[in-house]
Amino acid sequence: MTQANKKGKLIIFSAPSGSGKTTLVHHLLKQPELNLAFSVSAASRSKRPGEENGKDYYFISPEDFKQKIKNNEFIEWEEVYTNNFYGTLKSEVERLRNEGKNIIFDIDVKGGMNIKNQYPNDSLAVFVMPPSVEELINRLKKRQTETPEKIKMRINKAEEELHYAPEFDVIILNDDLEKAKKKAYEVVSDYLKN
Ligand code: ADP
Ligand code: 5GP
Repeated sequence: MTQANKKGKLIIFSAPSGSGKTTLVHHLLKQPELNLAFSVSAASRSKRPGEENGKDYYFISPEDFKQKIKNNEFIEWEEVYTNNFYGTLKSEVERLRNEGKNIIFDIDVKGGMNIKNQYPNDSLAVFVMPPSVEELINRLKKRQTETPEKIKMRINKAEEELHYAPEFDVIILNDDLEKAKKKAYEVVSDYLKN
């Protein structure tokens, strides 16, 4: 893939669950001058209240997900939690890039590094750092979307994911949300200017 035909760039937001990447990505999507479009992933988990199929995720069954893996339809995919598959569809990325949109990804840490490695010259990889593991737990509890068992799974994974922060292009600390939003806007708009 080349820049010559003015294809959009890739903005990757990765972090342990609860760090605030979805909040920051939604904030950036509200800024029309960034010309961002959200990469809607396929996911095999059930829909949370307020989520919409085709907007937050393409919600599909684990069986359909496995079929798409066999058909080689993903740029990357992960079994992020047991029997919860998530993946970036080739068709989604190609469609948005061909429209000249910059694509923003809200994706787990492994998936983020995977996309960065596939598009090294066209992507900015941002790691959203939580102030502490304790604060991650607080945020996940407050969000009220996960059972205590699932929160435990997410925290176990978070501790491993934090080690990968230095491999990203930029680290944004999400302690004070307003400061983090400002920083996210700055790094993304600077990157897109070049
Ligand atoms: P992620 O997408 O990384 O799982 P979310 O964006 O869903 O994280 O944020 C997790 C929870 O923490 C949400 O309820 C969100 O409103 C809240 N949150 C996000 N940033 C902050 C912050 N800086 N301070 C306090 N709460 C926050
Ligand atoms: P959630 O269930 O909270 O929406 O997402 C769980 C985790 O899966 C988050 O870290 C989220 O960023 C990640 N995720 C979402 N879409 C994808 C994807 O397409 N690929 C990968 N590898 N992870 C994803």
